[in-house]
Amino acid sequence: MLFEVVSPVTEQVIATVDELDPVDTERRIVLAQKGFESWRKVPPGKRAELLRSFARKVEESIEELALIEVKNSGHTISNARWEANNVKDVLYYYAGAVERLSGLQIPVAGGIDVTFKEPIGVVGIIVPWNFPMPIAGWGFAPALAAGCSVVLKPAEITPLTALKIAELAYESGIPENVFQVLTGSGSVVGESIVTNPLVKKIVFTGSTKVGVRIQTLAAQQIKPVTLELGGKSANVVFEDADLEKAAATAPYSVFDNAGQDCCARSRLLVQESVFDTFMEYFEQSVKSVRVENPELESSEMGPLISGSHRQKVDSYVDEENVMFRGHCPTGTGYWYPPTVLRVEDKNSKVLKEEIFGPVVSVQVFRGEEEAILLANDSEYGLSGSIWTSNLGRGIRVAQGIESGNLSINSHSSVRYWTPFGGYKRSGLGRELGPNATDAFCEVKNVFISTD
Ligand code: NAP
Ligand code: MG
Repeated sequence: MLFEVVSPVTEQVIATVDELDPVDTERRIVLAQKGFESWRKVPPGKRAELLRSFARKVEESIEELALIEVKNSGHTISNARWEANNVKDVLYYYAGAVERLSGLQIPVAGGIDVTFKEPIGVVGIIVPWNFPMPIAGWGFAPALAAGCSVVLKPAEITPLTALKIAELAYESGIPENVFQVLTGSGSVVGESIVTNPLVKKIVFTGSTKVGVRIQTLAAQQIKPVTLELGGKSANVVFEDADLEKAAATAPYSVFDNAGQDCCARSRLLVQESVFDTFMEYFEQSVKSVRVENPELESSEMGPLISGSHRQKVDSYVDEENVMFRGHCPTGTGYWYPPTVLRVEDKNSKVLKEEIFGPVVSVQVFRGEEEAILLANDSEYGLSGSIWTSNLGRGIRVAQGIESGNLSINSHSSVRYWTPFGGYKRSGLGRELGPNATDAFCEVKNVFISTD
């Protein structure tokens, strides 16, 4: 069977891709197991070199990968280049980890004790449609480095960069059974991966609802999962902040990737004493966001991923609550304007649920304590920003917010050198950073008697 891939920019079919069934999926997982058995024995120096040549192939293909993503996902060309570069970066970074994977030697009575870090086996990596390239890379680069083989399932609607990356892997010498892309739906291919006993570890990025399903299925086999789930993060602006800078970057903290970002700061919290001044600056910056054809170098925001997703986003927007909006094209393409809402009801679903579109709600707080209370008034805890010129306050508030990734005086969330993941219903485990390979290793403890 084949399925059609549609561009959110042109609304036209741009490719057809194989739709695997459970039998195909099982067959590919058996191949991945064979791949694992040989890959784990490849000496560290050789495995590192193969990952570096994979990284070089990606590096030579940045423009091609970026253009595929612009067409398939509607990402702006500058974002798509960043995303492709991020895959290259994580491959180089974890290539370096291969030769530093080491266990411990622990003093014990009656002998010596050593720990081995052993690759866990076939790893299933299930990726959403919003950042197809980087999210795949955060899983497969450390998994391959640890000596695991990978079956990667991209979202059905955005499979094209994953397929291209697999070609680059094979050109660079990574064996086909070691890195496979399995296309098809989540309910069929995704669940077949999660429930197959040969798959020893799942890395899932996506909605909290599907994350709960995956953790439940994996629990039947005591299979470890890393879950990167939804978010509803706060952007907290204090009266002592550089208001112009905070307002100038605030649109990118929530409207980047058209708001289809798990780290989107979709709740803007502003201190009462500077509310009017800040909102004036913010209105100017929202209205100047360039929402246009994502292939244009000047484009700052493209369309939403699909017509049905646009409908879902719009269902949260009650015209009565709109403070102001930015601009967007009309006609072909799933466009939606940057939208700023003022919602008084603290229990409104606008403040509770992840909208995953270019929509931000604005709330007012009086002091530090209230800011922390409001920021934590969410079942999620993925990201967030704090704007203040008082570093002590910045750190106090960061310590008070239940979230895995915070930035002070910045709207950025992801740096591949540092761990990334969520508190509460935003996830389980961490990706990236120096310890990411641990998620793909078992620890074996061996005691050697000296008697
Ligand atoms: P989704 O519906 O949960 O799907 C994510 C992936 O899981 C897709 O590949 C999907 O396949 C697959 N899937 C669906 N049902 C499955 C099942 N029963 N078993 C196994 N796999 C299944 O999420 P989405 O709508 O694509 O992405 C948006 C969500 O991802 C948002 O909630 C966002 O916050 C979250 N996200 C989190 C992070 C993070 O790092 N924390 C990063 C990015 C996105 P198909 O779509 O092909 O059916
Ligand atoms: Mg989905």
